[in-house]
Amino acid sequence: MKLLVINAGSSSVKYQLYDMTDESVLAKGLVERIGMDSSILTHKPTGKEEVTEVSEILEHTTAIRKVLDKLIDKECGVLASVDEIQAVGHRVVHGGEVFKGSALVTGEVKSEIRRLFDLAPLHNPPAVLGITAAEKNMPGVPQVVAFDTAFHQTMEEKVFLYPIPKVLYKKHHVRRYGAHGTSHEYVSKVAAEYLDRPLEDLKIITCHIGNGGSLTAVKGGVSMDTSMGLTPLEGLMMGTRSGDLDPAVVTFVMNKEELSLSEVNSMLNKHSGLLAISGSSSDMRDITDGMAEGDPNATLAFEMYEYRLRKYIGSYAAAMDGVDVIVFTAGIGENSVVVREKVCENLTYLGVEVDPELNKIRSGEPRRISTPNSKVEVLVIPTNEELMIARDTYRIVQENQ
Ligand code: ADP
Repeated sequence: MKLLVINAGSSSVKYQLYDMTDESVLAKGLVERIGMDSSILTHKPTGKEEVTEVSEILEHTTAIRKVLDKLIDKECGVLASVDEIQAVGHRVVHGGEVFKGSALVTGEVKSEIRRLFDLAPLHNPPAVLGITAAEKNMPGVPQVVAFDTAFHQTMEEKVFLYPIPKVLYKKHHVRRYGAHGTSHEYVSKVAAEYLDRPLEDLKIITCHIGNGGSLTAVKGGVSMDTSMGLTPLEGLMMGTRSGDLDPAVVTFVMNKEELSLSEVNSMLNKHSGLLAISGSSSDMRDITDGMAEGDPNATLAFEMYEYRLRKYIGSYAAAMDGVDVIVFTAGIGENSVVVREKVCENLTYLGVEVDPELNKIRSGEPRRISTPNSKVEVLVIPTNEELMIARDTYRIVQENQ
């Protein structure tokens, strides 16, 4: 079966075409600047040259039509006909409490996703645009939605509730939902396969650290706790997000600086984190370069980042009463030797011992960086959210045939 995985943002559509007979990627690409005067389509067929096309693409239906045109193009195409695509999988950020796993798209499913717009006003509306655009371009082809929150629906009430008046949960669904669930689920499964141990027996801390970042305590294959909350603002210090802080800071600063709701929202989501402390960049490469050059602000940003990450690892070891495996993934987790080194060098009380040489290797494959003596396996596993969505799509479409 060939299937298309789509990740639609407000002005972009990312795609990957899979052949599920061997889970190979036939082509992938990105449409950017949808709705702007010069939209850019970048298409990369596997084994062939990347092509870029600039044109005016005003909305998502046209964007997906252009993608399909590229997929069947004589020069850069990989399909004889669009009819070869037998299913479409979509990434959706928020599944609320309704979606505990991926689902076949129906009218009711689309209405549920719309009802969740309140909880993810920036992310869920474009996902519906993507679904509608795919339906228009490929009528009759089954569509599946995979949610970033679904994996975390196993969290118990004591974990997902905030200690605030319960009426807010009942009336407005205020609770912890988490994010990056597809990635946490994927890397925890790959970790068990890599170690050749049953997932059910393992206590795993998955560190998905990119520009955004979250940790998950995966016990016996299910998410027991995760660091993001009602929104992705809770938890770790991130590229431009503050992560955890005293909620009173918000009202205090709003009062002192006379900030509006949207201004304080923007401050905490877009102007905090590594960017705020370094004063120069939200990118971990710049932070570690700055630190190597002796920049005190970059050094402080790094130290705060590492300290907060390490505290979360400790708290999840406590939450699960132990840890067997720590997994690093996403942009920083997969690439930053120094972040992994510094975090792990201060986890000796857990029995963590990382081999400095193994930590330096780059392979793009799952690999162990801990020593044979380490009491905790430390792994670097490249995440692959698209593949996870493709697998769910394939399974659900087959189940519903
Ligand atoms: P997003 O959350 O946007 O998906 P990514 O997972 O792509 O983010 O991660 C982006 C982060 O990864 C940036 O902070 C970037 O600096 C970091 N990163 C990427 N490559 C490296 C590298 N070689 N060394 C250190 N950090 C890296």
